[in-house]
Amino acid sequence: MNIKENLAYIKSQLPAHVTLIAVSKTKPLEQIQEAYEAGQRDFGENYAQELAEKETLLPKDIRWHAIGHLQTNKVKYIAPFVHLIHAVDSSKLLEEINKQALKNKRVIDCLLQIYIAKEETKFGFSFEECEGYLKTEDFQKLKNIKIVGLMGMATNTNNDKQIRAEFNSLHAFFQKLRREPETSNLKLETLSMGMSSDLKIAIEEGSTMVRVGSSIFGERDYSK
Ligand SMILES: *Cc1c(COP(=O)(O)O)cnc(C)c1O
Repeated sequence: MNIKENLAYIKSQLPAHVTLIAVSKTKPLEQIQEAYEAGQRDFGENYAQELAEKETLLPKDIRWHAIGHLQTNKVKYIAPFVHLIHAVDSSKLLEEINKQALKNKRVIDCLLQIYIAKEETKFGFSFEECEGYLKTEDFQKLKNIKIVGLMGMATNTNNDKQIRAEFNSLHAFFQKLRREPETSNLKLETLSMGMSSDLKIAIEEGSTMVRVGSSIFGERDYSK
């Protein structure tokens, strides 16, 4: 596994407007450092405590992305420094992020996770729930978060047509929401979709941010 070569290869496939998040969950510090030395600055992690620990030990100019399902009681670990939270899947979680951001005297950028997969285990808002929620006063009064885009995960399937249709529907919804006026805590710019297995389709369907782990660092071993 040559991390530097993998990064260079993936970057060569990405249009200039697409940001690459290197997903380093379960990976050791040395491998993150290696990617850092190759010029990578955006890293994604799923587990709040792992993310917070790595942040203390690695260079300060890394932009840390919390990418997976986040439990409300874990927000406090990452609130002081996190660059972007990708998977905000409930109003309760967003309210807690707002509270912790206020405590840290900052505004935390977030993406709302939209449920597009045909699987029962995935988290997120439906299109209707998302549109409804953004119109509520409960949302509009949150001053220490900013919704800067949407995130979605396609069904885990080999059916490329299905994956494409799911990403396409999210992109269309993103474009629709973007036609609404911006507010102080809503400014949609980022569409986070695509990982190692469906990167190419995601880019063709309008992704602006991809989260790539195994194609950079190799398969993960959860047994350790
Ligand atoms: C682990 C993970 C990724 C990266 O997955 P790979 O298949 O290794 O590229 C992307 N997004 C989320 C939310 C993840 O949990």
